[in-house]
Amino acid sequence: MLELLRDGSLLTRAQIVKRSGLSRVTVTNRLNALANAGYVISQPSTARTGGRPAEVLALNAHRGWLLGADVGSSHARLGLADLAGRLVDHTDLDLNVDDGPGTVLSLIDDAFSHLLSRRNLDTRAVLGVGIGMPGPVEYSTGRLVSPPTMNGWDGVDVHAHFTRSIGAPVQVDKDANIIALGVQRVLDPPVQDVLVVKVGMGIGCGIISRGSILRGAHGAAGDLGHIPRPGGDLCRCGQHGCAEATAGGWAIAARLREGGHHQVRTSADIVRLAALRDPQALPLLRAAGQRIGEVVAEAIGVVNPALVVVAGDLARAEEPLMAGVRERVYQRSHPLATRDLQIITSPLGADAGLHGATYLAADLALDPRRIDSAVSTSV
Ligand SMILES: [Zn+2]
Repeated sequence: MLELLRDGSLLTRAQIVKRSGLSRVTVTNRLNALANAGYVISQPSTARTGGRPAEVLALNAHRGWLLGADVGSSHARLGLADLAGRLVDHTDLDLNVDDGPGTVLSLIDDAFSHLLSRRNLDTRAVLGVGIGMPGPVEYSTGRLVSPPTMNGWDGVDVHAHFTRSIGAPVQVDKDANIIALGVQRVLDPPVQDVLVVKVGMGIGCGIISRGSILRGAHGAAGDLGHIPRPGGDLCRCGQHGCAEATAGGWAIAARLREGGHHQVRTSADIVRLAALRDPQALPLLRAAGQRIGEVVAEAIGVVNPALVVVAGDLARAEEPLMAGVRERVYQRSHPLATRDLQIITSPLGADAGLHGATYLAADLALDPRRIDSAVSTSV
């Protein structure tokens, strides 16, 4: 029933009975329990259906609060959201992930405390925490496993850290998954099968299949950035021919420095050169798009998405990167897979990951099993 209300819908009892398929008695009993536990509020409807105004029910979005963080290798974006997942405040944080977990996690703790204190809240008001990390996360435990670039993070239990520091349910996921979730939840009309490729200094991929994040057995699904190809360039993971070795921002920046653009370090530097139509940057970005298109075409053959979204800092280069992606995807995918397939840049820009992190937190806080136990202890 909360699932029906969490998008902000105002529904009458009769509408909830109809949409849930539950009996009127069951709906009344459960709504009373949810209202007693503070999750549902009722208000008079403004719609006049002849006679007295009907009562409508809504999710009590201020029953508790959610924290989300999209952690990157050089910055993090953190936010506070209401129970419906609407962001009410956010903050940005500069960090260096190579400073190690001790430093980085306590910076994030401080930023979360700051966000809460700005609303006179403390951690007791938090019902869910969603965290995206720039490396592979073992889904069942929330631990980072052999991240190719994050010094000192292998085996670090990010889940346990935030469970301790905040005392609320925590979900940790790789950044590309939270970006995919953030993008997919705002698509209108809804799309159930979405592949998001994050192109920044590295390359990540998050897949939404039939409306849910596709994680696979351990959380490693969709690792498109490091599928090696014989004879290719050396990647920072130690293999040869990974897509990242051609299309990652670090690889493009290195080639631009070799070509005389000595100051180029970040994705933003590359995007700036592309905007100036730099004769070295444009072909490198087109080649990057083509290489991304190749691995995306392989993934399309496996999961058959209806929409491919290119996100991440380098997506702001738009064309020529997107032209390269489209060229290879349409060349190399089966016609049935590309029928009606759209390839777009992220509709949420740099905010996609933060939105996804708070949706992850909302899913935790409104998990039916968690709600059932909260409701039964409040009766
Ligand atoms: Zn690699």
